[in-house]
Amino acid sequence: MDVDVLVVGAGPAGSTTARFCAGDGVDVLVIDRRKEIGYPVQCGEMLPHVEEMYTIFPRSEQLEELFTVPPQLVDGESDHVDLVSPGGRTYRCCFKSHILDRRSFDKHLAKLAVDAGARLETDTSFLGLKDDVAETTMGPVKAKVIVGADGPNSRTARQAGLRNPGLRYPAVTCQAKGRFDPAVKMYFGNVAPGGYAWTIPKRGGANVGLGFDPKVFKGSPREAFDRFVGKLDCTCEDVTMGIVPMSGPVPSTVMGNVMLVGDAAGQAMATNGGGIPTAMIAGRIAGRTIRGHLKGTCALEEYERRWKEVMLGPLRTSVRTRRMADMVFGSDRLLGAAMFALGRRGLDRAIRCKGVLL
Ligand SMILES: Cc1cc2nc3c(=O)[nH]c(=O)nc-3n(C[C@H](O)[C@H](O)[C@H](O)COP(=O)(O)OP(=O)(O)OC[C@H]3O[C@@H](n4cnc5c(N)ncnc54)[C@H](O)[C@@H]3O)c2cc1C
Repeated sequence: MDVDVLVVGAGPAGSTTARFCAGDGVDVLVIDRRKEIGYPVQCGEMLPHVEEMYTIFPRSEQLEELFTVPPQLVDGESDHVDLVSPGGRTYRCCFKSHILDRRSFDKHLAKLAVDAGARLETDTSFLGLKDDVAETTMGPVKAKVIVGADGPNSRTARQAGLRNPGLRYPAVTCQAKGRFDPAVKMYFGNVAPGGYAWTIPKRGGANVGLGFDPKVFKGSPREAFDRFVGKLDCTCEDVTMGIVPMSGPVPSTVMGNVMLVGDAAGQAMATNGGGIPTAMIAGRIAGRTIRGHLKGTCALEEYERRWKEVMLGPLRTSVRTRRMADMVFGSDRLLGAAMFALGRRGLDRAIRCKGVLL
């Protein structure tokens, strides 16, 4: 099969890329190995409000186009986040977010891509690249542009000679039923060594989970998760494991006719683990660049320059902050002291990908 653009992965990165390059004569095929888009949910389901996104990425524009979320996809709203130190001290940071129904949200993004003219094939895997042709479970696909939007373990990246994110934190999440504090809570310390555990209240219960640094905690993700939920009064459904890329963007996101978007490109924020907004911001840039490239007005490499202009500064700052945090993450006492020294204002800056020593 011949197409203009093959997008591997129908998560936020792939669907948004497809939405912004499909139609107007551009033939886009999106494939995803999942049978159902958006499920299983491997996410805390927090999406910052658009005004928070402008403070994190002040060079971004027209984010309302991406982040105006239909109310039926929202399971809750939150105005602040409580960061809880190992000793139990709470630092309340103002941070407005939607609590999504991510299962429906990803379907919604895929539908926007299909409405724009893309074709979507579920239950279809990318297997490899042979002589510039993509091998997939639906047969070979020859494409002018191939987009690797297949997450932090991107096979597309490896096949094209690009790198996967170096640091990948395991994370476990579930849909929990029970009684929860109405505030979003993030717990630090040995409950989730090198990362954090969360309870994010939503309609009917909460999203409960944790992510941790595998260098600090050698046990299994399930063991860490069971230990955390054992302290909560809840029952868990749909327990799933995923990976959060924590080392910042990979060195190169374009190689020949292949480009990487979202987690495949390591574009998640290292101080909060959030990657939905960055995947979508990069996806729009990728989609527009591909369109320009196919019409002969720009090179594909322009994608890298454009996304870096908007996101690289904050993403690098968040990696620097995470590295500083690594120095104290091994000790609850030091971590508690560091959180106390930073105070609410410093922690607030950290979750917004701003320098904490200013
Ligand atoms: C437990 C956990 C909690 C998180 N919580 C949050 C949060 O609250 N807020 C937030 O903003 N971010 C959160 N994140 C991060 C966020 O989920 C990701 O950054 C985001 O989904 C990135 O989007 P993406 O499209 O790049 O990748 P993904 O959403 O991972 O999509 C990749 C898609 O590619 C498909 N795929 C993979 N390989 C192949 C293949 N070979 N062939 C075909 N298809 C393939 C997959 O099936 C998948 O649908 C969390 C991550 C985890 C693991």
